[in-house]
This record gives sequence, structure tokens and C-alpha cells, in this order.
Amino acid sequence: MLGGTGRNSAMAVLVTATLLLAADPYAARRERMVQEQIEARGIRNADVLRVMRATPRHLFVAEEVRGMAYEDCALSIGYGATISQPQIVALMTELLEPAKNHRVLEIGTGSGYQAAVLAQLVSRVYTVEIVPQLARSARQRLLRLGYSNVVVREGDGYKGWPEEAPFDGIILTAAPPKIPQMLVDELARGGRVVAPVGSPEQQELVVVEKKRDGAIRRWSVAPVNFVPMKPGN
Ligand code: SAH
Repeated sequence: MLGGTGRNSAMAVLVTATLLLAADPYAARRERMVQEQIEARGIRNADVLRVMRATPRHLFVAEEVRGMAYEDCALSIGYGATISQPQIVALMTELLEPAKNHRVLEIGTGSGYQAAVLAQLVSRVYTVEIVPQLARSARQRLLRLGYSNVVVREGDGYKGWPEEAPFDGIILTAAPPKIPQMLVDELARGGRVVAPVGSPEQQELVVVEKKRDGAIRRWSVAPVNFVPMKPGN
């Protein structure tokens, strides 16, 4: 049986949940997305689940598709780019093993959603986008939504961000034919690269781990379907 305090805190949770639902009409859909698409499919990292519950995905897509923001699919964000399926964002975030003191590099800012998810788990996110219009709109959006520890750069992701290297984690959200060596070079010891790799027809999600002694271990996790990484200049 609940004691007095238990009842009070249960009541507090109920009141808070009700207020949140009233303040954010998408909260119920987001909760269902996390339960059915993410938790039910095996994502266990409590911090990743918390952040997927907290990030307003509908504010990262165009108004016309806002109603689809919490569906089990990728969505077009223009310029040939897509915001990945929620499950894939959660999986890649979990595989990166983010920690509070980490500095992370993302290639392929797109809408800024994956960067926003990471921003709540690490100390700083550096993200590179090759399409100038996307870089600009993501920068404005992240600023407006208060993700102040994300830096967006317009440029070619094949080069990474050498001035800020090494990174504790590197995530690619566009698929190169193979993992660029330059990016592995920019990875700190003990860190991971998480990336879709392959041709537009056939890709796999790959993890590359740089051990403390500098040795490299690589394995693939699942078949995936990302936009190809554009060749840089
Ligand atoms: N992470 C994004 C999804 C991005 S889709 C999100 O959460 O919304 C992949 C993105 O990679 C696209 O925006 C595309 O323009 C970008 N891209 C493709 N090739 C690139 C390259 N060589 N360097 C940097 N970005 C690239």
C-alpha cells in the first residue's frame, strides 16, 4: 500500500504529466513512439530513452509533415535529405556510448534533430552539413530551441573538423562507400565512429572502435538505408 508520501508523489507525477500533455499536444504521440518503436525494439540506455522522450521531433520537420513526426519512418526535409527513423536515431545514439564530458562530431546536420538528441547527452556537439541552406536553418532552429552546445559548420564532412579533433565520438548520418580514414584519424582513443556504410542500394550500420592502445575493432550492426554522402571537393 502507498504511504502518505508515496501517494503525494504519485499525485505529483500525475499532475506534472497532465500539465506537460496540455502544454505539448505532441507529448502523447512522442511517448507512444518511445514505447513502441524504441523501448520495445531493445534500446535500453535510460539516458537515450529520456532524451528521446524530451526532444520535440515535430519542430525539426516542415509544418506540412508535422503530423507524421512521431511515425515509424524517415521524413523528407528537402534538398534530398531526410530526418532518420526515430528507432535508428536512438540506436545510433546508444551505439555511440555518449557521456557527459564527451565532445562529439556529427557529419550530416540535416534538420539538426540528431544533433539536438546528442546535445542533451554530451558536453558539445560539432556538426557539419554540406548543403548551405540546411546548415543555416539547422543553426537557427537549434539556437531557437535552446541547444546552445551545438556548433554547426557548413562544409564537407569527408574532412571532418580537424581544428576541433580529437572527438570522443563521431556519427555519420549520410552513407559513404567506406569510412573515411580522415574521420578515424580524428577519433580519440577509447572512442567510436557510428556510420552507415555502403552503396545507395546496400548499406550496413557499422561501429568502429579505437581502443585505448590505438587498435581498431570494427563490426556491423544492421542493414540500414541512408542518403548517400556527397563526395566533397
Ligand atoms: N542527422 C540529420 C539527418 C541528415 S540526412 C537529422 O537528424 O536531421 C543526411 C545529411 O547529410 C543531409 O542533410 C545531407 O545534405 C548531408 N550530407 C551529405 N553529404 C555530406 C557531406 N559530404 N558532408 C556533410 N554533410 C553531408
